[in-house]
Amino acid sequence: MLYHSTHQPDRKVDLKEAILRSLPPDNGLYMPDHLPQLSPDFWQRWRDLSFQEIGLEVASAFFAEDVPAEALQEIVDGTLAFDAPLVTLAPGDHVLELFHGPTLAFKDFGARFMARLMAWLTRDDPRTLTVLVATSGDTGGAVASAYHQVPGTRVVILYPKGKVSGLQEKQLTALGGNITALEIDGSFDDCQHLVKAAFLDRDLAENLNLTSANSINLARLVPQSFYYIHSARQLPEGIRPIFVVPSGNFGNLTAGLLAHRLGLPCDGFIAATNLNDVVPAYLKSGDYLARPSVQTISNAMDVGAPSNFVRMQALFGGSWDAMRRLIHGASFDDDATRAAIRSVKAMHDYVIDPHGAVGWLAAKQWRSQSPTSATITLETAHPAKFLDVMEQELGKSCLEIPERLAKLADLPKVATPMNADPELFKTWLRQEMA
Ligand SMILES: *Cc1c(COP(=O)(O)O)cnc(C)c1O
Repeated sequence: MLYHSTHQPDRKVDLKEAILRSLPPDNGLYMPDHLPQLSPDFWQRWRDLSFQEIGLEVASAFFAEDVPAEALQEIVDGTLAFDAPLVTLAPGDHVLELFHGPTLAFKDFGARFMARLMAWLTRDDPRTLTVLVATSGDTGGAVASAYHQVPGTRVVILYPKGKVSGLQEKQLTALGGNITALEIDGSFDDCQHLVKAAFLDRDLAENLNLTSANSINLARLVPQSFYYIHSARQLPEGIRPIFVVPSGNFGNLTAGLLAHRLGLPCDGFIAATNLNDVVPAYLKSGDYLARPSVQTISNAMDVGAPSNFVRMQALFGGSWDAMRRLIHGASFDDDATRAAIRSVKAMHDYVIDPHGAVGWLAAKQWRSQSPTSATITLETAHPAKFLDVMEQELGKSCLEIPERLAKLADLPKVATPMNADPELFKTWLRQEMA
């Protein structure tokens, strides 16, 4: 399979280039040259398959031309070492728990798959691969965990100072070894900008063998489409869900669109955001106006210029109308989110995190207009990652902290502070990573 840039459909690259270089030189994003569909035979069998079997079929649809079946099987099985249970809160009100991985957020799926695919793609290359990742919270932790102690790789994480939760920060800064954390005096968008600047410097990118682990990397999107299929098949036959996706950079929602193209029967998607509502605003008005992000309690969605928006547009041939037929927008502020956390607990005795709560509100709004709909809200992180907010709304000891998170609390934070200056960052890379 070949891949092309959203900016220049005629410029084709192979899988290795699309995954390892991750960003085309024209500043677009890579897309598969053709979007695969799963066979009618698959859609006869899909309800009886395991999560791993679904993963392998989806991964094969994208990568079988380039990666041998045995290697793909290993990559998929290594990725899906934990489940994604579908929990029913009330009839039609389903929550898909995506937080059972090592860092307790859905990003483990993409990061684990990407680390394994990259390792396979570079199996014969003696150079060290330097992975750059900007994070608004959960990406960095997932990437750090996925690459920690992987020979031949090192990871540089850029995160916005004071804008990630305490335990999130520990996930970025406490591992050590081949993981280095930079605490950037700026916003997530600044961090993303620094990463982009490093890649656009061709010499630097080449010399340091740079690669990116942000949701701009296609290798993260494909595995995220597995669980859309895995969850939909758990509903009674004939029920087509609406997926509610708490969104920031819109990688997760884009993965849902890929699943839809693969043939997944569903009635659409809801792009649920906090006050950083550029995409819901676009769906309403047709005008796309990126702007600086504002800080909220659902901090992993504090994105003012969502990086996957160009992919979403490409998937709809640039048509606003076509996008609006499949995706609906909804956004909620922190007060509504806090109230939702309390409601979900009171009504369903379920503890939902601030990101999932934004989704749950959008799902509730949707079902109030369309009472026969079944919504699947993606619960993107474990509530224990946002302990401050959870305790403010539900009281002390409202939830148990999973062991793998609790362990981190005692480890020291190790991070290098830096101003949000691309030249400074590039100089640091040249000196420290040479
Ligand atoms: C990253 C993240 C999101 C946003 O996902 P995108 O793919 O960037 O839209 C939502 N919730 C949580 C908990 C996250 O970590």
